[in-house]
Amino acid sequence: MDGLAQALREAHPELETVRAAARQPVYLVGGAVRDLLLGRDRADIDLMVEGDATDLAAELGGANSEHDRFGTVKVDVDGHEVDIVGARTETYERPGALPTVTPAESIEEDLARRDFTINAMAIPLQGEPRLIDPYGGRGDLDAGLLRVLHGRSFVDDPTRAIRAARYASRFGFRLEPESEELLRQTDLSTVSADRRRTELERLAAEAEAFAGFKLLGDWGVIDLRPGGIELMQAVDSLLRTPHWAEAVPRERALVAAALGPPGAEEVLASMWVPKPGEGVELAERRDPVELDLARAMGADWLDNYLTSWRRVRLEIDGDDLIAAGVEQGPAIGRGLRAARHKKLEGEIHSREEELATALAAALRD
Ligand code: ATP
Repeated sequence: MDGLAQALREAHPELETVRAAARQPVYLVGGAVRDLLLGRDRADIDLMVEGDATDLAAELGGANSEHDRFGTVKVDVDGHEVDIVGARTETYERPGALPTVTPAESIEEDLARRDFTINAMAIPLQGEPRLIDPYGGRGDLDAGLLRVLHGRSFVDDPTRAIRAARYASRFGFRLEPESEELLRQTDLSTVSADRRRTELERLAAEAEAFAGFKLLGDWGVIDLRPGGIELMQAVDSLLRTPHWAEAVPRERALVAAALGPPGAEEVLASMWVPKPGEGVELAERRDPVELDLARAMGADWLDNYLTSWRRVRLEIDGDDLIAAGVEQGPAIGRGLRAARHKKLEGEIHSREEELATALAAALRD
């Protein structure tokens, strides 16, 4: 284990500070152990303490934040952000529910709640360095296999299927056959939409996101939109252009490209090219993700909308209409919209023309 101790010192020198400060058993756990064994760099590390996470945080100079519902606290150690969590067990009252958490007595008990064998290893910071690996994670890492710890894993927490796609695509790993059998029966609908979205967006943030979504589709865990992977690729290219990159949240757009449900993108993409006034009316109150998908499906006119049409402003505003005798109410909006439409169409050019157009529309019943 000398090699491991040295690798640990080199990868995470800040752990020496934790070791020196801790009065209770502390372990490096989860992805940090996995990545250390794979020889992959990573910035964030998770520590597990047999005892109270906030006590260890206090010994390290205090937490950066309140603990979350699982008792995780973040601390800064020599300029590195470190997550500390108390050992815990988790039980699931029904499929897909958030777990009921109780403190665990030992590291082994804590490791039993984890998703895959390759994530269920730990290294104690005190004493002789050794790998705690009750489920054969190291062997699975060497074999490139993702294996769940027990038969109910994907029933308890179906988001683990999305996590499987994340690790399989990132590392080029396969599912161990029995785990794959279980995974293919995953029912994501038992999980709240929020949690589903969070894991899907984490998958979308991966460099190999397309492969990950394809896997989920092949496993039958998600219904891919027909042509969804190609649409993801088109969206990805589009989001490398500055205007679209600024306007659209990348991960959300990629998930929507893969899955739908279709918003207005199909409609916008199948239209004749609208003139500017009409284009603004069509696009203005839409979710930027829908616009981005429509553009990726071929609605090139949306480039004009994004870069110029939507920036067209009137010189007049509602106060000008009120000063001209229009009553507060819907007439004001109607008038301003009509003027903006004509300005966009290039039919009016001056403040006077804007006011005349807006008044005519506002005073029309
Ligand atoms: P990354 O390498 O992308 O940062 P990670 O492997 O560190 O990911 P996290 O999501 O940060 O994974 O979670 C940390 C650890 O917590 C995992 O390695 C795993 O042991 C455990 N874990 C996280 N989510 C789950 C889950 N849904 N079910 C079981 N264990 C989980």
